[in-house]
Amino acid sequence: MIDRKSRFARKAIKADEARQLILQHIRPKPIHEELALEDCLGRRLAQDIYAPEDVPHFRRSGLDGYAVRSQEALTCDHTRPVTLRIVGESAAGCEEPPEVVPGTAVRIMTGALVPDGADAVIMFEQTDEFEQAGVPWVRIKHAVCPGQNVALPGEDISKGRLIIPSGSRIGPGQLALLAAFGITQVPVYSRPRVGILTTGSELLAVQAALAPGKVRNSNAYMLFAQVSAAGGDARWCGSVPDRPEEARAAIDRALKDCDAVITTGGVSVGDYDVMAELFRELRTKQAEPGEQALARSSFVLFDKIAMRPGSPTTAALIRGKPLFGLSGNPAACFVGFELFVKPALLALSGASNPVEELWEAVLEEDYPKGSPHDRYERAKLNFRSGTLTVRPLGQSKSSMMLSIQHADCLLLIPSGPRGLQQGDKVRVLPLGYEPTAIPEAVRMEGDQT
Ligand code: AMP
Ligand code: MG
Repeated sequence: MIDRKSRFARKAIKADEARQLILQHIRPKPIHEELALEDCLGRRLAQDIYAPEDVPHFRRSGLDGYAVRSQEALTCDHTRPVTLRIVGESAAGCEEPPEVVPGTAVRIMTGALVPDGADAVIMFEQTDEFEQAGVPWVRIKHAVCPGQNVALPGEDISKGRLIIPSGSRIGPGQLALLAAFGITQVPVYSRPRVGILTTGSELLAVQAALAPGKVRNSNAYMLFAQVSAAGGDARWCGSVPDRPEEARAAIDRALKDCDAVITTGGVSVGDYDVMAELFRELRTKQAEPGEQALARSSFVLFDKIAMRPGSPTTAALIRGKPLFGLSGNPAACFVGFELFVKPALLALSGASNPVEELWEAVLEEDYPKGSPHDRYERAKLNFRSGTLTVRPLGQSKSSMMLSIQHADCLLLIPSGPRGLQQGDKVRVLPLGYEPTAIPEAVRMEGDQT
């Protein structure tokens, strides 16, 4: 029988503190794999990647024109052009173009090897061609500077430079770099296997007809999508009714198979809230003498958060693996995942920066309601006249799911008696799944143009 008093004895902590507690106990999966280049999209690098060669690795023309010796055309203009004999061409891919000796030029294309002797390329538009006695000539009508339009070896990327730090998620840009360097086998972190288990005697399979008092299991699908978007390997672990022994057995099975388990439903103070009961048991064990060994690797991290929605969100470590008890209310489940589970999955996946920074935005309309707790409202970002603005989507009850589809951020309404006004600066958590900060290593040698 549930002890009615103890279920209200949970102590709330702040959301940031809860996230830190989780992250303190999570390390990336130590297992790495090597994947073929074409299979590693969306995965995380398990090793720093350094440039094995210069890019470009030869002197490369930046445009279509003529390769010339700059000292022969330093001061010319359209009234005093310089005329050079065309001795051949260098097309992209050409390995041995003719040398540019004094008095000559070579026709050259974008990306082609700049011939020996030449140190500059002048674009077609600044030249005229003509033929005399069957010999082709070019008239240079603009002054040419040494090095003009010639990319030197290593100008884009110098050999030995850190190009993609370990932990980076592999997207189009990373794939391009790996391909450019001929890295066909890519060391990546193994994706964390994440078990999804739903609890609730009212839950129906999605194909089932509705019956009084029953609801279809929409959280299972939402969580599947959230786990996948965060780079996890989502595993369906079934749905259990509100019976503790069934929930316990299902969690045990799920934890055997997975690196982390998420449950929804049953974490609150209701009479049949099974997850709350299981977490209470664990807390009691933690406190019992002689249970230190168990307590070392299995314990409740927190079971209440000073926020809405999702205040009963709970997290524990079970034999070192994270178990998240999210609320069953769809919006609370959604928010609980984004705030607590996603950073944990990113950390498990090897991300070096698993906590996304909050952005600052300007509130588009009044938010008149004060709240004793921080609130995370589903909201939509906009750019208006160069300013990032945000609008709460309304429908903010945790049981309401219509607005989840439109949310591209969570708007933080700090606790306080008065609410907020249009034009106030607020903080938002963007819901994109990539940390947006540019890694320092990449920024340092950044593009100078
Ligand atoms: P609970 O967290 O178990 O108290 O459930 C809160 C509300 O969320 C109840 O109205 C449940 O019917 C609903 N709910 C619980 N689990 C799910 C689920 N998997 N899918 C959709 N709604 C759910
Ligand atoms: Mg329930």
